[in-house]
Amino acid sequence: MNCQRCGATIDPGVHECPFCGLQTPAGAAAAQMAEMARLQNAQMQAQQNAFANEQRRRVAAATIESSATTAMWISLVGTLLCCSPMGIVGGVFGLRARSVAMKSGVAVPMKATIAIVLGLVGAVLTAGFLTFAWVKGSQDEETANARAAALDKKSASKVTAARLDHETACQLGESYLLRNGWDSRSGSQYSNIECPGKLTDSTDSAELEDLTSKYNSETLKVSVCFKRGVKWYVDRLAVGSCAAPPPGAGADASARDARVDSAAASASSAPPSYGRPIF
Ligand SMILES: [Zn+2]
Repeated sequence: MNCQRCGATIDPGVHECPFCGLQTPAGAAAAQMAEMARLQNAQMQAQQNAFANEQRRRVAAATIESSATTAMWISLVGTLLCCSPMGIVGGVFGLRARSVAMKSGVAVPMKATIAIVLGLVGAVLTAGFLTFAWVKGSQDEETANARAAALDKKSASKVTAARLDHETACQLGESYLLRNGWDSRSGSQYSNIECPGKLTDSTDSAELEDLTSKYNSETLKVSVCFKRGVKWYVDRLAVGSCAAPPPGAGADASARDARVDSAAASASSAPPSYGRPIF
């Protein structure tokens, strides 16, 4: 066989002329085969890539769907419980699921959107509830302070008398409870304060039994312990008789005093310990 360009004699098996470099028919056929193989290979690679991408997308979609479901339930329960921060937590989870979905090119699940909306509703409800509680609390406190001030005004002329009368004692007791509260509750939370009990007095101290009051459904019943200096004043409130537990150190924290007193009483009546430390 001769080369078509330079006419040299060449082996028909070679792909190009060894003298001028022209491609032989065998070389053209081999080149075509190689190109076909390359195309086929590229197609297969593309199919494999597409399959892997689809697989990844499905896994991402399943993960996003499941986190969106969690987010929706959290915010749903939070909203149903009204004013629980759980609703907001669910909303934040929903936002996270939404952002992951958008980054992964997956449709944002409806549940994530529901979680976000419920989260917003929860945030508004919580803010509203807290504001309401705050306004109600300060209103109650204002009412209690005004009532205490009115009571103090009424009793002002009587507290300097030598003897304490029942009505004045009741006014002093109510004012004290409204201002100081009892048992870690503020005074504004007590209502329907009444004095059905009897008043016993001496020259420098007095006791009004059974000052009663309502706290929600509970009834508070305490004795009011008075002292007399320049005028009559409430020393403390006591559960049971004023005389029973020895008076505590402070006059303002009656609830704590009552507890300290009972602890002291039980300590003194306890049998002596034999060298063992008490605490
Ligand atoms: Zn040639």
